[in-house]
Amino acid sequence: MKTIAVLGGGYAGLRMVKRLTHEKVDAHIVLINDNEYHYESTQLHEVAVGNKEPSDISFDIRAVLPDSVDFIVDTVTSIDRDKQQVVLKHSQPVAYDYLVNALGFESESFGIKGVDEYSLSFNNIDSALAVRDHIEHTLANYATSHDENDLHIIVCGAGFTGIELLGELVERIPVWNKQYDLPQNGITVDCIEAGKTILPMLPENLSSWAVKFLADHGITMHSGTPITEVRQHSVVSNDKEFPGNIIIWTTGVQGSHVICDSGYAQKRNRVVVENNLSVKDHPHEFLIGDVAAVPNPDSGRFYPTTAQIAVAQADCAAENIVALLAGKPTHDFQFSSVGTVCSLGPGSGVAEIDQMGHWKFKGHKVGLLKRLVNDRSVLELAHVKEMLASR
Ligand code: NAD
Repeated sequence: MKTIAVLGGGYAGLRMVKRLTHEKVDAHIVLINDNEYHYESTQLHEVAVGNKEPSDISFDIRAVLPDSVDFIVDTVTSIDRDKQQVVLKHSQPVAYDYLVNALGFESESFGIKGVDEYSLSFNNIDSALAVRDHIEHTLANYATSHDENDLHIIVCGAGFTGIELLGELVERIPVWNKQYDLPQNGITVDCIEAGKTILPMLPENLSSWAVKFLADHGITMHSGTPITEVRQHSVVSNDKEFPGNIIIWTTGVQGSHVICDSGYAQKRNRVVVENNLSVKDHPHEFLIGDVAAVPNPDSGRFYPTTAQIAVAQADCAAENIVALLAGKPTHDFQFSSVGTVCSLGPGSGVAEIDQMGHWKFKGHKVGLLKRLVNDRSVLELAHVKEMLASR
């Protein structure tokens, strides 16, 4: 019997396993993940500021896997592509006939001086909790330090992660003000963004509404301000310096370092894949999610790396593996977006939906919509009980 090794228990990896088992594929499926649990990476920013707990955004992977799937909890260090083996940190290598790499993303520093030393980013539950600890420890320190910088938060980058994080901060700051007995309007937040436009991927009326919402809630946005250095107590953009003792880095992501450690031709740990999501000259290797640069023949560019697209890629790659096992031809990845939701805290946001027409929403309706999107992703990956348990 052939072995299909699926690397990563994120959205894409779990969806792949569900899809393969649903198709009753005649193969031995091995899922390898570094944790026992799956977490919703699109909600990590909520854990980072304390509006949600890890248990709200995670569930036990074993509880949702069919018995026929082998689940190995270990860290993938590299892939020996010549020997067709997955190399693990603690256990013996796993041999495969088909490989699905869905190892996800890591924060990207772009080689900017001081980023690794003086700012914090989050790409998993532990790093999100480390951000929360740092914020709370620094705010608590103000009582003895009386250093204004202990109350200054700087968010670096205003992509979706940065903007959604700012929305959660708006919700959380009044709680911290009370908890640490801080002066009214004590905590200030600056967001520093290289691009001239905030959320350029959304229609102008939605992005300007989001920026106004944040400004009305005390967030100061500095667009057209590329960060050139991060220091221990400040962020620098050419000749400007923004002081602050809480510096959170959200300027974009790269694929897992396992990609470069395994000798792939890559850029930012992403491999340009074929239209059917396999790797050139390796028809049995599939890359999906943040480790794949997937060409969009319509635009001539690559698809962005979103959870929605990663799940669609898992479906396509699963169908292609089933086809290969049956000696049938594969098909190319095609994607039509159901839209984009950008939350601004639990009760607000902006959204553009392409389902049964083209819809634009802003304000409290988006809070509900975001909840539905999150519930739907848990529902599709697990069971209703996990969806209900995460409330
Ligand atoms: P991103 O690449 O989308 O945004 C990073 C932002 O940082 C950009 O606006 C960029 O101009 C800015 N930046 C980069 N270098 C900078 C510098 N030196 N100085 C100042 N600003 C700088 O990254 P992200 O926000 O982490 O999102 C990663 C992926 O996840 C994206 O594909 C995003 O669409 C997706 N995502 C989607 C959602 C959602 O749909 N609601 C939420 C979170 C993330």
